[in-house]
Amino acid sequence: MTALAAKMIWFVGLVGWFIIRYPHQRRSRRIAKVRQSDRRREILLMSISFSGLFVVPLFYVITDQPRFANYEFRPLLAWLGVLTVILFLVLFYRTHKDLGRFWSVTLEIREGHALVTQGVYSRVRHPMYAAFWLCAVAQALLLPNWIAGLSGLIGFGTLFFLRVGKEERLMLETFGDEYRQYMARTNRIIPGIY
Ligand code: SAH
Repeated sequence: MTALAAKMIWFVGLVGWFIIRYPHQRRSRRIAKVRQSDRRREILLMSISFSGLFVVPLFYVITDQPRFANYEFRPLLAWLGVLTVILFLVLFYRTHKDLGRFWSVTLEIREGHALVTQGVYSRVRHPMYAAFWLCAVAQALLLPNWIAGLSGLIGFGTLFFLRVGKEERLMLETFGDEYRQYMARTNRIIPGIY
């Protein structure tokens, strides 16, 4: 494993993310929305997350900048990164499959929206966010640069912590006791822990 190989694996993970998401993104545009959370706030949060998970690391992978933040490459960390990328893609694929047409990039309630509690949603309420946490961890393990490595955790972390409470309130308002019971038997992202 070399530093260049690790960068390429990070990039492959990214391409996987776009390929898995593409058909859902296309279908999503055609489904009517009945409720939408504050658009401007959502777009700001997504831009922060996207910068951290995509723009900053891509800039680093292409230019090797900012160079002052580089540190020594460790193959073992990169191998753990490979494993984490695989887990990310598998979980990301399964969450999209289980959530189906109720997925949306911003917080929304769709026409005929039903609560999904099966598949990966049976153990945790936010498996897709769990997948993005894995993606951010993989980035930190694969890219030996303090800024490009950690920007994903900071960017996605900002989106996650400023969104998850709001999302759960929206789900409670929409699904009431059904969601309350679902909350009582599941954790947010790590089964049995958080
Ligand atoms: N937080 C979830 C979903 C992310 S997609 C996860 O991490 O897996 C965001 C959209 O999914 C929100 O607009 C919300 O309406 C919808 N959503 C979230 N949890 C859901 C569930 N259990 N069933 C159906 N829709 C859900």
